[in-house]
Amino acid sequence: MVINLRSDTQTLPTEEMLEAMRNASLGDDVLGEDPTVNKLEKLSAEMLGKEAALLVASGTMGNLCALMSHTHPGDEVILEAESHTYYYEVGGFSALAGLSPRFVQGEHGIMSVDKIKEAIRPGDIHFPHPTLLCIENTHNRGGGTVYPVTLMDEIAQFAHKQGLKVHIDGARIFNASVALGVSVTELVKSADSVMFCLSKGLSAPIGSILAGDKGFVEKARKVRKMVGGGMRQAGIIAAAGIVALEKMVDRLSEDHAYARYIAEELIKVGGLNIDLETVQTNMVYCDTSPLKISADQFANLLKEQGLLVSAVSTDQIRLVTSRHITDKEAGEVIATIKRVIENVL
Ligand SMILES: *Cc1c(COP(=O)(O)O)cnc(C)c1O
Repeated sequence: MVINLRSDTQTLPTEEMLEAMRNASLGDDVLGEDPTVNKLEKLSAEMLGKEAALLVASGTMGNLCALMSHTHPGDEVILEAESHTYYYEVGGFSALAGLSPRFVQGEHGIMSVDKIKEAIRPGDIHFPHPTLLCIENTHNRGGGTVYPVTLMDEIAQFAHKQGLKVHIDGARIFNASVALGVSVTELVKSADSVMFCLSKGLSAPIGSILAGDKGFVEKARKVRKMVGGGMRQAGIIAAAGIVALEKMVDRLSEDHAYARYIAEELIKVGGLNIDLETVQTNMVYCDTSPLKISADQFANLLKEQGLLVSAVSTDQIRLVTSRHITDKEAGEVIATIKRVIENVL
């Protein structure tokens, strides 16, 4: 049995999703005529407390459409230094949106108001014009860390006062919501736009949602078409997305409990550095340097034992829990890692 903790993107659609896809009413979504897509977009907007929403092919496309809709080429976008948009989206913000980045160093990905104040510079002939601030919640490379609501609101309020728009890369915003026990609406209320993924812990096979006010979504719809993201009978995808939103949100707390459990047990095993404070949602980052081997080497040793994890830097591996992990797998994960560590030491 292979256990896959590389990412929650690896989740497979549920039987109910496959059934819904088979039975979905379809039309041409480029013309706005796919009833299932329209239903998903309406449901998403309601759950986020935004006026409108747009189905996109991926989180990367959702962020790109947001960036291109909020800004003009040559503008400055303010990003956290380890943000997904900077780190993992092929530089689309510069290559396609024509934006100049300015980085804010977060604490485990979480930016402070003070650091953002330093980053947003006053007008000057030499500087690009800052027009957008991006916030990642949960923060992937920060460890799946969560922004408290008050901090989100304070940051957004300050950015707005400076004339910037605020976009949330909320690929895992439902994980943040479940972890905080706060509705997603409350979490994103101060942002101008938000993207979240249907295809991660929510288990849909494809798709992300971008939401905001009507004017913004109208622009983003046009940008989506421009970047080749206009899809025809996309109700096939949307049908699974509806099941994801209706059935798969509340259970995310199970993923969080397993991440916490695995982290606590691995700390008992010893040999890896794990910062329990960052284990707030469905991720566990482990530093392999006490073992004096690289993250890649450690990941390969685990792979030989049937456990797949991601090496995300020279000394960090990442374990991500999802609905495919239950008591049996969690026990197996701990036993496998313990065995490999004992062999290395
Ligand atoms: C996964 C992820 C994305 C992008 O999603 P894709 O569907 O893989 O393009 C964006 N932001 C964050 C924080 C992510 O974790």
